[in-house]
Amino acid sequence: MKKAGVKGNCYLCGAELGGTAMKNHLVNAHTAEGEEEVLLLKAEGAYNKNYWIYLDIPVTATLKTLDAFLRKIWLECCGHMSGFHYGQHERIGMGRKIENFLPGERLNYDYDFGDTTELLVSVLAEARRPAQKEAVRLLARNVPPELTCCKCGKPAEFICTLCMYETDDLFYCGECAGSHEHEDYLLPVTNSPRMGSCAYDGELDVFAFNPAGVTGR
Ligand SMILES: [Zn+2]
Ligand SMILES: [Zn+2]
Ligand SMILES: [Zn+2]
Ligand SMILES: [Zn+2]
Repeated sequence: MKKAGVKGNCYLCGAELGGTAMKNHLVNAHTAEGEEEVLLLKAEGAYNKNYWIYLDIPVTATLKTLDAFLRKIWLECCGHMSGFHYGQHERIGMGRKIENFLPGERLNYDYDFGDTTELLVSVLAEARRPAQKEAVRLLARNVPPELTCCKCGKPAEFICTLCMYETDDLFYCGECAGSHEHEDYLLPVTNSPRMGSCAYDGELDVFAFNPAGVTGR
């Protein structure tokens, strides 16, 4: 897997930028228009920072709303429990309003207390946006990492959740997956830090970048 500097797309104008440049781009180009008060947040995999999103959320919303969005784009498999906390132990209730957080704060988040996926959520800036129906607006997301089949080099479609603990040969294309000995352990490749965990298959993730859907300047 590639290490640093995975690029992503701005969902408002289509710009393709690295994570830090994306933050500056969003703050400078997209966060001062409109009436609705929001906070600009970044979420990323705690252990795989190739997976990152930027979003904004109204200050009147609660963590429960953020939790629901994170489940949809990245996490949901079987309705597991989840929670936000400061550091390892200080729990933050799901009813806590977004307006109680300040730029510079970092929250930890766990989904599934068994086969856990850990995220980091950074509060970046206060911002404004035009009013919209959906509480969470997805602003930017990493380009899906290019993962290739360990047998033939074609784009990978599956991850073997048995091999992933034992070897580096864990990704398979559709054809090679058909003859892989651990058929019952295959999960689809997804653009998520939960790829390969529990039964996660990404079926609720409808947020792939679509250049035709760019709405902003
Ligand atoms: Zn943009
Ligand atoms: Zn599950
Ligand atoms: Zn293959
Ligand atoms: Zn295997």
